[in-house]
Order: sequence, then structure tokens, then C-alpha cells
Amino acid sequence: MLREKLVSGAPALGLRLGGEQLSLFETYARELEEYGKNVNLTAITGEDDIAVLHFLDSLSIAAAVPLAGRSMIDVGTGAGFPGLPLRIYESGLRLTLLDSAQKKVDFLDALCGKLGLEDVDCRCGRAEELSRQSGNRDSFDYAVSRAVAQLRVLCELCLPFVRPGGTFIAMKTPESAGRELGEASAAVGELGGKFERFFDYETDGIARTLVMITKIAPTPGKYPRRFSRIKNDPL
Ligand code: SAH
Repeated sequence: MLREKLVSGAPALGLRLGGEQLSLFETYARELEEYGKNVNLTAITGEDDIAVLHFLDSLSIAAAVPLAGRSMIDVGTGAGFPGLPLRIYESGLRLTLLDSAQKKVDFLDALCGKLGLEDVDCRCGRAEELSRQSGNRDSFDYAVSRAVAQLRVLCELCLPFVRPGGTFIAMKTPESAGRELGEASAAVGELGGKFERFFDYETDGIARTLVMITKIAPTPGKYPRRFSRIKNDPL
């Protein structure tokens, strides 16, 4: 059962979920399953897997950094992960969900309405285009991303959004975190970042790692490049 999985899994992350949060997660899971019958939103289905692999996994970020009063952009959020569970957990989080696929953003818009979270900004667009607009550039406390691209590519999609002093958090497996960080070392520096630390955690026996990169300088104006360049000629 979703509720039991969440209640039993949250303490391992040092988190506690209240009744209102649990019922929002129930609505979220129901909408995922309902909407997912018609539209391919996520490969993960079934209450237990949604609880562990989507909700608790996303909530790991709340275990790692303070969220109240902070701004966050979730780049390539898909059906809302990791950003939306974090907003359910911390109502003081100012959240932007970004995805390039209109059908995902349509789902998120409808879902946020059902959850009563109208203040969540659901945007359809490409990261490398949106971060060129003032107001988005060098401005978020956090950029977060899960399952979108390898880290060296992800750095160019995410770091331009982060304000100096803010943090880019990439969700990876323990096996890939170190290797991808090694491959991304030039990209991190070039885009104004500096590796801060890994945050290791476990949900229901599954080990995961957050790669935390601090922004120490504004991103140079020539970045991000066009997606074909980012992908074919990564920094
Ligand atoms: N973060 C979610 C979804 C991962 S799938 C999760 O972990 O479940 C990757 C998503 O990234 C897709 O929905 C895709 O549309 C989006 N995406 C890929 N490249 C993007 C880009 N350059 N800008 C915005 N969204 C992008």
C-alpha cells in the first residue's frame, strides 16, 4: 500500500510525512495511474514502486538540502520527478517544473490543479533555450534533474539556471556518480560550477547518490549551446 510504504520509508531519509501530505501523494499516484493508461508518462507503475522509486527517491533531496523559501527548477521533470514530491513535502518551496514534451506539461498542469498546488509553475520548453532568458538565468537556488542525460550534458542544461551560491543536484546511481563526475570535470568548471559533495542514501534497499555541484560564478554567455552541439560535442 502506498501510504504504508511512504510512512515506513520516510524515516530512513530523516523525514516525517503528515496526513495532508500522504493524501496528496495518494492523489498523485492515482492520477499517474489513471492518466498513464492513455499517455505514456513513466515506466514505473504499481503503488509500491511509485511510492519507493518515484516519491521516496525524489524526497531524498529534502534530506540533503533546506527547501523552505528556496526556488527550484526541475529540468526534464517528466511526470513531476523529483520536483513535485518535494513541493508536497515542503509547501514553502517555489517550484518550476520544466519539460520539453507538451503532453507531460498538460498532465502536470491538470495534476497541480487537482492537488491544489496552483503556485507550481509548469513550463513547456527546452532547458537550453529557457535558460537564455533573463529571469531564468543565474537565478534559481537549485536546479535538480533525474534520468535526463549523462552528467556532462546535464551540467550545460542545468547550471545556467542556478544563481551563484546555489546548487545543481543530479540524481544518479552510486555506480555512475563517480564516473560521470570524472567525465564532467571540464564542464563543471567551464559553466561556473564546483563539485561540492556526494549525498548517498537508500530507499527500500536501493542505493542512490545525489551529485551536488555549487555554482561559484555566473555561466559564461556562450553557454548553453544548441542541443545538437551539447550532445555531440559535450564539454
Ligand atoms: N525526471 C523524470 C523524467 C525523466 S525522462 C523522472 O525521473 O521520472 C526525461 C525527460 O526529460 C522527458 O520527459 C523529456 O521530455 C525531458 N527532456 C529531455 N531533454 C530536455 C531538454 N533539453 N529540456 C527540457 N526537457 C527535456
